[in-house]
Amino acid sequence: MTQITPQPGIMDIALYQGGQSHVAGVADVIKLSSNENPFGPSPKAIEAVRDSAAALHRYPSTDHAGLRSAIAGRHDLDADRIICGVGSDEVLQFVAQAYAGPGDQVIYTEHGFSMYPIIARMAGATPVMVPERDRRVDVDIILAAVTEQTKIVFVTNPGNPTSTMISEGELERLAQGLPGDCLLVLDGAYAEFVEGFDGGAGLVDRFSNVIMTRTFSKVFGLGGMRVGWGYAASEIIDVLNRVRQPFNLSSTALTAAEAAIQDEEYLRFCQSENARLRTWLSEELAKVGVASDASCTNFILARFADQTEAEACDDYLKTQGLIVRKVAGYNLPNALRITVGDEEACRRVVAAITAFKGGNT
Ligand code: PMP
Repeated sequence: MTQITPQPGIMDIALYQGGQSHVAGVADVIKLSSNENPFGPSPKAIEAVRDSAAALHRYPSTDHAGLRSAIAGRHDLDADRIICGVGSDEVLQFVAQAYAGPGDQVIYTEHGFSMYPIIARMAGATPVMVPERDRRVDVDIILAAVTEQTKIVFVTNPGNPTSTMISEGELERLAQGLPGDCLLVLDGAYAEFVEGFDGGAGLVDRFSNVIMTRTFSKVFGLGGMRVGWGYAASEIIDVLNRVRQPFNLSSTALTAAEAAIQDEEYLRFCQSENARLRTWLSEELAKVGVASDASCTNFILARFADQTEAEACDDYLKTQGLIVRKVAGYNLPNALRITVGDEEACRRVVAAITAFKGGNT
């Protein structure tokens, strides 16, 4: 058989790790590894999807006008400067595809989202990882790494898996310090968990080289629907729309997201339950010697003595039907990222980690 060779660079693209939802031989499994909403989608989204099923023979909207106007209404943004994608992953991919290519560099930070280097390579560009400082994005380190080839800088705010925030003032310094032809992408996948935080929308309005991305996969509980969006200057949105497939979002996904973003009451319930259970979870784990930094998201970064202990705990949790996330690939080998689940999930995590630690650390 002849060997069919892919394009140069394709085999350098790492396969995305994560998403496991089963443990062989364990029946009662709770997945706490993808920062999903444990309470599910808004009941209004479920109802809207059911009602929309009769129209499944129709192609979906190509311009997403309904969803964009619902997003714009909720966040007080200009609907014409919003683009929707198949998860924010796709919006990030549009940015890389449209603005970076062979010979260009794409900067991301040490503990940044693992898709950034993948999508940089998908565009043929070279990903460049820069260190953080004490699990925080550091503007000076980023600026020192920028070259004439740098076309995009990806920053997650709040961070995943660190759950640390970078201030608007620092981001402003970063936006100002970048060359005019370099984009700053502010990935606000967890922005809704931070009270009063605009995800970087204000910076987008002030700097023409800043893009904000958001998702319906986290607080809105629609990970399975794959809906995300971006907000940027109209010129950038026009460019991104040229690399977007006309029917990228299914009618079901559009319907669910539009209903979900208008259910403020359910959103507030999810936000407050998450905050309550997150505090409880980290306080209980601290009592058995597992520290975590203050979290502003829907996960905590539980820290262990070393990588061996973190891996042993991960293995033990699996035997107890609890799937959490190893973050060695995010340069955090001593830690496990644990999604804040519902009350039962949090209790099971605390009981299992207490048993793992011997109960009396
Ligand atoms: N950015 C960050 C920081 C994330 O954690 C995730 C999901 N894990 C995404 C983007 C992508 O989310 P989605 O494609 O589901 O919108």
